[in-house]
Amino acid sequence: MSTITNGAAASLGIPRVPAVRNRLRDNPVPGVKRVLLAAPRGYCAGVDRAVIAVEKALEHYGSPVYVRKQIVHNIHVVSTLEKKGAIFVDEVGEVPEGAHIVFSAHGVSPAVVAAAAERKLEAIDATCPLVTKVHREAVRFARDDFHILLIGHAGHEEVEGTMGHAPERTTLVNSPADVATLEVADTENLVWLSQTTLSVDETMETVRLLRERFPHLHNPPSDDICYATQNRQVAIKKVAESAELVIVVGSANSSNTVRLVDVALENGAKAAYRVDYASEIQQDWLDGVATVGVTSGASVPEVLVQEVLDDLADAGYNDVSQVVTAEEDLMFSLPKELRKDASGREDVRGLGGRIRQLDWQRP
Ligand code: SF4
Repeated sequence: MSTITNGAAASLGIPRVPAVRNRLRDNPVPGVKRVLLAAPRGYCAGVDRAVIAVEKALEHYGSPVYVRKQIVHNIHVVSTLEKKGAIFVDEVGEVPEGAHIVFSAHGVSPAVVAAAAERKLEAIDATCPLVTKVHREAVRFARDDFHILLIGHAGHEEVEGTMGHAPERTTLVNSPADVATLEVADTENLVWLSQTTLSVDETMETVRLLRERFPHLHNPPSDDICYATQNRQVAIKKVAESAELVIVVGSANSSNTVRLVDVALENGAKAAYRVDYASEIQQDWLDGVATVGVTSGASVPEVLVQEVLDDLADAGYNDVSQVVTAEEDLMFSLPKELRKDASGREDVRGLGGRIRQLDWQRP
């Protein structure tokens, strides 16, 4: 077997798109090592917008620009932006008065916004619009005297931000196992909401258990688990049906990345591993493996996936097919603070686009 080479971190920017076929062969040739590449994978519209927001802020205001928390949960993205002049902090109290600060894609509570205003910071809100949607739902349900059961992971920044919009009226449900011991005063006016990056299947199981305990439970008006999370899970499910090993590119603190590992294991992969960089792939993972599935979390630049494909090719996995389950072309407009560039022109990036689910078909 060829040696796996080190994949050095590359810069952000236009990714190289691998030359792949958009189909999965029914009958792989015996002895041929192949890669099934999930699509969609990698950057979502909210991550793209947040990264561009920091880059534009650096362009317009010069460095340093402060960013509260990691702008998106990916160490490569964060270290690349640091090199360009961004300074990442945990709290607004660490930022000099009057400086520019970007709020991350995961969103913030009103208390954080107020603390930034008190320090006279120039805030640029890169909260993903799909997280803002959940914030608005929380505010509205609290105003209408509902109690909110928020399904999500304790300590995740998005969960902290959402709970901060209705702190007196929200109870966190961390997992299906939490449901049996939940205590709520009013079982009539109850609604569930969720973090945007959870496992769809596990969340539906949690909701089923909640409804068993609380038959009057209301549903949110629309899905809180976002299109990008759902699409990446659907794609890796299809890949995992045919792959002995799945490699998920992404960082350990990226919720949607970690869920992709879980989903792969639950849907047929014998093994699934997360790596930040290609250099983390262990040669023994590939022992006896004919088909490797590859995907990446929503905060991962495509260049990191390309490095994994390059190293797999060095190891003899030259036959790459793309498994496409959806097409995405959603774009969000930049944060309002950045919509005018230095010349006063409105940025043309528009809100909208279409998300089309494809029936996955073998040829
Ligand atoms: S994963 Fe979903 S909610 Fe999070 S930034 Fe991307 S589109 Fe927005």
